[in-house]
Amino acid sequence: MSTHESVRAGGAAVWSPSVVPPIGVELSDSQALAVAFRHLADIGFAENMAGHITWQPDGRAEMLVNPWGLWWAELTASDICTVDEDARVTRGRWDVTPAIHIHTELHRARSDARVVIHNHPYYVSLLASLQTLPELVHQTGSLFLDDLCFVDSYDGEIDSATRARDLAQRIGDANLAILASHGVIATGRTLAEAVYRSATIERVCKLAYHVMLTGRTPAPMKRSDMAGMQASLIERAADVYWAGAARMTIKADPHVLD
Ligand SMILES: [Zn+2]
Repeated sequence: MSTHESVRAGGAAVWSPSVVPPIGVELSDSQALAVAFRHLADIGFAENMAGHITWQPDGRAEMLVNPWGLWWAELTASDICTVDEDARVTRGRWDVTPAIHIHTELHRARSDARVVIHNHPYYVSLLASLQTLPELVHQTGSLFLDDLCFVDSYDGEIDSATRARDLAQRIGDANLAILASHGVIATGRTLAEAVYRSATIERVCKLAYHVMLTGRTPAPMKRSDMAGMQASLIERAADVYWAGAARMTIKADPHVLD
């Protein structure tokens, strides 16, 4: 009997939908970003006004970002500011904290990371405090197969470009980094991808924590099965997750687009 494990295919190679439910309105970049903040706040990802989402659209040096002092749950499109590659505010009516260097330096180091999301969601923070990555013991965790990084030391605020460059180097090419005693950084080629990774890591950490509490040994998944699932989650689920999140967020408060 062969011990070879055949790799399960997934993603667009297996199936693509002929039609997907649209968001229903054309969103400007600022509107889309405001919707992302509201959605992630809605699902408990944001620690009140902490953290940032930055979006560096293709071919542009500037980044869209949230200002200091507003909670993610109250942001509207007109609150979104713009910073340059060195974190100077170039447009907007509010200020931006030096913590934004975490983002500007990661964008500089990673041409694929068009969107960078950072905050301190509760269950991610819980595992970060235990100095551990979540065990991937459920199929949704396949999203992070070979794409998780643990930054195992904490030495205070990242408030300068030098410190942020060091952090970006430690993150390397991972799309998801958990920072000891701090929080999480998720990246994506698109807003949809980064939002989906952010929402999913909190759920994965919550599940991993509850599995730990049982004291029982979870059933392992095969890498060969997880690879196909990872492709399906990225290629099929991320965009439709985002469209649904946007529809529900706009319906709950259309003023998010103001
Ligand atoms: Zn932080």
